[in-house]
Amino acid sequence: MRDENGNLKDVKYYKFDDLKSMTNFMWETSQDVNIEISGYVLTDENGKTYYYVFDWNNGFNDAKNSMNISAIDKKTNRSVFDGKNIAAQIHTHPSKNYSQNAYDGPSYKDYETATALGVPVYTIGFTGVSVITSKGISTSDGNIFTKKSDWENMGKRHYDMNNLTVAGRRETNPFYITSRMSWLNKPQLLNSIFP
Ligand SMILES: [Zn+2]
Repeated sequence: MRDENGNLKDVKYYKFDDLKSMTNFMWETSQDVNIEISGYVLTDENGKTYYYVFDWNNGFNDAKNSMNISAIDKKTNRSVFDGKNIAAQIHTHPSKNYSQNAYDGPSYKDYETATALGVPVYTIGFTGVSVITSKGISTSDGNIFTKKSDWENMGKRHYDMNNLTVAGRRETNPFYITSRMSWLNKPQLLNSIFP
């Protein structure tokens, strides 16, 4: 059931005061319950920012389902939820779902979500935090990933534990921003990553 704005009704979410408390809560809880947890960073017309985390027991937690939660504002053509513009989608890739040191960045499905919402999609994985934009551009070298085949072998890759540099990480995961621990300590969104 959808409301008059096109948003899915009865989606339970929790509000946070800032990006750090939101994302640390998401990661820790997701590791405990072993479920992908997703949320939105939203802005209203006055520029105020909001941090929503969706309840993980409602079947709408992963990136794909995020598309179904939101609606498109017909006037602005932007993705909206709860009457606010979506600025970013963030979700976890809990480590129990991945083999050790495996690629933990965005999936093709996550790329599709970024495109559908028109906003960057961030993934918090065991090794790193990554971002895929709606144009499929990687953080590392501006290479563009938009075809399903671009992801064919991505998920089979593993981080080289002998090369822990950012460049080394990006050889495995071109969407890698920084290590999970340093990002969660000081999380930043796209604008501050790409000045
Ligand atoms: Zn994902």
